Amino acid sequence: MTIKKVALVGGTHGNELTGVHLIRKWQSQPEFVTRPSFKSDCLIANPEAVAANKRYLDVDLNRQFSVDRLTREIQTHEASRARELNRQLGPKGDAATDLIIDLHTTTANMGCTFVVTREDAFHLQLCAWLQMQMPTAVITSEGALMEDHHFLSSISDHNILVEVGPVPQGLLRADAFDLSELAVGHILDFIELYNQNALPELPASLELFRYFDTVSLPKDESGNLGGMVHQQLQDRDFRELKPGQPILQRFDGSEINWRGPTGIYASFINEAAYYDQQLAFSLLKKVSVDVPASLD
Ligand SMILES: [Zn+2]
Repeated sequence: MTIKKVALVGGTHGNELTGVHLIRKWQSQPEFVTRPSFKSDCLIANPEAVAANKRYLDVDLNRQFSVDRLTREIQTHEASRARELNRQLGPKGDAATDLIIDLHTTTANMGCTFVVTREDAFHLQLCAWLQMQMPTAVITSEGALMEDHHFLSSISDHNILVEVGPVPQGLLRADAFDLSELAVGHILDFIELYNQNALPELPASLELFRYFDTVSLPKDESGNLGGMVHQQLQDRDFRELKPGQPILQRFDGSEINWRGPTGIYASFINEAAYYDQQLAFSLLKKVSVDVPASLD
């Protein structure tokens, strides 16, 4: 199929200003997101949260887009906003939008990370292209995490999330702004080449990280925060966790060490947005996957 309609989305999290201001920039200067073979629309997903400079008002908008949640009349600001976005861009399962690019930033030191929710031929080719264009970027997949995905971008069958960090919440960093724009440009170039059936030869295999679990922050006996990410783990996203390596430190100075198997990697290390769930970091497995030579 041809990708005819692309949606570029920022402000899914209201305090991630990079996406918000890139979207506003492209709304006034659409030439950056314009390509001959498809139409691009730019939108702010949660304007009320942007105005409040908060990630969300009631609940995380980027967890509201499972078919299950979209079909229930949940009475939160974000659930109702999700139903509205699903009407506008979707409906999920039969969406009017062929591809959604959702822009995010993280407080973790993750550089430019792409997140896909599917590992089909299209997405693997897109990721292989991105790895060619941006060798230091990291490809991650939530494909194995859940069947009925809850990301906004999952409204359309083709979707990718751009996650750039470290960026504190509520401010802009020029390096992250430029890196996010560069990443989006490469995605749009891929779509254009794909539509024109003019993709170059792509690498035969692709390295990607699959999310599979999270690690919680330490708690005290009352359930309050009892510690933090260990200083030796801070900023070391996408490095393998070594057996016995300190990962958390309690306020009394004692350490918690990694007791899991080898071959496991950490990301979203000390992500500020995950303190509401008292999460310390996400766990990933690194795999090499074959990239299909054609989409047939
Ligand atoms: Zn975000």
